[in-house]
Amino acid sequence: MSTRGTARRAPRGWRLLVTLATTALICGLLGAPATQAAPSTTAAPQARQGTAAAATPSAVSVVEEAAARPVPRPSRRTVVSLSFDDGIADQQVGADILEAAGIAGTFYVTTAWIDKPGFLSRTQLQELSAAGHEIGGHTVTHRDLAQIPRSEVKRQVCNGRKALQDWGFSPTSLAYPFASSTAVAEEVALECGYDTARGLGDLRGPASCIGCPWGETLPPGDAAYLAAPEQVNSSWTLSQLKRQVTQARKTGGGWVILTFHNVCSDPGSAGCPASQSITPQTLTAFATWLRSYTANPTNQTTTAPVGDTYEASVGVRYPGYQDAVAEPAPPPAPVGQNALSNASLEQLEGQVPDCFERAGYGDNTASWSLAPGRTGEVAQQLTVSGYQSGDAKLMPEMDLGTCSPSVVPGRTYDLSTWYTSTGITQYALYYRTTTDEWRYWTSSPWFATATDWTEATWTTPPVPQDATAVSFGLALIADGTLVTDDYGMTDPGGE
Ligand SMILES: [Zn+2]
Repeated sequence: MSTRGTARRAPRGWRLLVTLATTALICGLLGAPATQAAPSTTAAPQARQGTAAAATPSAVSVVEEAAARPVPRPSRRTVVSLSFDDGIADQQVGADILEAAGIAGTFYVTTAWIDKPGFLSRTQLQELSAAGHEIGGHTVTHRDLAQIPRSEVKRQVCNGRKALQDWGFSPTSLAYPFASSTAVAEEVALECGYDTARGLGDLRGPASCIGCPWGETLPPGDAAYLAAPEQVNSSWTLSQLKRQVTQARKTGGGWVILTFHNVCSDPGSAGCPASQSITPQTLTAFATWLRSYTANPTNQTTTAPVGDTYEASVGVRYPGYQDAVAEPAPPPAPVGQNALSNASLEQLEGQVPDCFERAGYGDNTASWSLAPGRTGEVAQQLTVSGYQSGDAKLMPEMDLGTCSPSVVPGRTYDLSTWYTSTGITQYALYYRTTTDEWRYWTSSPWFATATDWTEATWTTPPVPQDATAVSFGLALIADGTLVTDDYGMTDPGGE
């Protein structure tokens, strides 16, 4: 379901003008030719039948009228776009199925995930594009855009589009991660050069949004938020998939954008989450049906990628297309200055300090609470139990520049954290690469337990050459309780 903000961006004047100016062209591109052979009279739309009946006195006359004039047709065609989110590796199976049915899809990819285990490779994206599929954007690291400041939204959206352009694509279509959008995110989507951005859950699905329409309008009412039904999950049957199309068709046509994630045989098993999977069998059956359904001209239905559909609907190829401009991270903090935001952990979102995240991995149970601060009001208290492996820690958010401090490759940094702890701790360090991927870097020696406030200080090794930012946390690596406050990361200067 969509988690959009309630404040909606007003439609832009220029966009409306483009829409009006190209309406005639739209009909030419998306509507049936006026000379097309007559569908059966039962396919004639109610409104046109009513008009004919009002102008003619008898049923016989209506039939004669229909035979003599261009056949009435539905007000709008139906266009079906099949979209795949996140760049998951098993979507190659989906692409193969679509290609066998002669259907081109849209693949919305999260760029930092490409070439990673479990995700498509850049080579595969090139092949998908060469096969006619569209490559769209799904941000750099799939953050919830409603939860981050505008500068960071811009890095997520613009830098993701820039990465795709650098890889040779011409991305015009965005999908919001988690279908989460705000007025700011919609503005940024257009600023970054996308023509459209897709949500989820705002149209009728098999068991959701009852009472909502079955199709988005063509052209869409708000290109920066394309309405779509909820994502397809493993409970969707073949007949429900068909119904998304046939109901849209029956209710005046429009744009049906279906959203898939995993294409895998055993929903509910590892790597095949029931909440977002379709089996190859069901997808094959649906694609095969869609091929025959669209081949019948009386159905007035076609399939096309999102970008092509939008362009046809406004009658312009690449409307407003512009090269992507990356939104840079802030420069590194000056020598001697603490590079961290909210270092004393006083600004809170709920109980989590702004610009920090509660992180951890491995086999242990972490619980968090607030404690009296060393300075200011509060510190963060972490209790680990059942420790077998891994760690738990508070770290500056591993983002694209708003909270994680930028660094200069080759320099060393002084880290500091005030703490009390009943278990051993150590610094765990991560860095962001030039491709905006976060990686584990290194860890410090252990720090002893401490009953009174103690400062853990450590100087990092030289920052790796491909690093653009660093994040770190004092990690609890045993059962115990760790309280931390007053974090610091400083470039000491000198050589
Ligand atoms: Zn996603």
